[in-house]
Amino acid sequence: MNQNAIITGGSRGIGRALALKLGELGYNVVINYRSDSSKALSDELAREIEEKYHVQTLVVKADVSSFEQCRHLVEEAVKRFGDKVDVLVNNAGITNNCNFIDIKPEAYEKVIATNLMSFLHMSHLVLPYMVNHSDKDHQCCIVNTSSVGGMTGVINQADYCAAKSGVIGLSRALALEFAKRGIRVNVIAPGMIMTDMLRGVNQDELHALAATIPEGYIGDVEDIAGALEYILKASYLTGQVISPNGGFVLQ
Ligand code: NDP
Repeated sequence: MNQNAIITGGSRGIGRALALKLGELGYNVVINYRSDSSKALSDELAREIEEKYHVQTLVVKADVSSFEQCRHLVEEAVKRFGDKVDVLVNNAGITNNCNFIDIKPEAYEKVIATNLMSFLHMSHLVLPYMVNHSDKDHQCCIVNTSSVGGMTGVINQADYCAAKSGVIGLSRALALEFAKRGIRVNVIAPGMIMTDMLRGVNQDELHALAATIPEGYIGDVEDIAGALEYILKASYLTGQVISPNGGFVLQ
């Protein structure tokens, strides 16, 4: 169908599932990663998407907490697929787990830069390649990954919650600003999903918390990929937060 998508933090976890979903839906996919250790994973994912779905892929290393590296990512995407971006998925994210007295300013600045500033940078850089061809009949989409932490508070995650709430505000404002130009902006706010991010925390505490989820279990990356598919197909949906969370947060 000759449509192009960029996903930040596509190498692992939720991002990997979202990249696969983009391929399945027929998009050429630009997969971004940051760590050298994730290069092989990203290359393998790109091969899998090409073989399964017969679309094209591009793998780009960039630390999206830096504006210049976001610019590099977008320039590489445009060089490869032309000046037409149909979908941007801002997904890259990190956590600290630290009380707010002991946390170092550099640590919370990194969380804000990765989980919020990168979403502004990427949207700012990609929107010119959306407005040049979007309209009511051919919509473009930005899909931003927030978190239930952006809708509630989480102990020892003040920086993460601040960033994830910011993502919701950013998305609502961009949704309003670009609605008439055929660009929809929505948010996926996952509850607990089993990825490296959760594997890194104390497992006893995690399972105690999981027992409080009304549906009774930790979610899977496929639950988030399903939300992405819904958002991309839901032409009358903009400025909304979709939160697959097993009932963990009821709005
Ligand atoms: P993972 O830790 O499994 O994966 C994180 C991804 O983000 C990796 O692809 C990583 O790349 C990438 N990344 C991190 N920092 C940067 C950066 N500076 N530049 C480019 N890429 C970067 O996390 P999840 O899959 O669990 O999380 C994905 C998103 O979902 C995040 O925004 C997270 O906050 C959110 N989320 C997750 C929840 C969960 O329970 N898992 C719950 C709610 C929200 P690399 O491999 O190169 O390190």
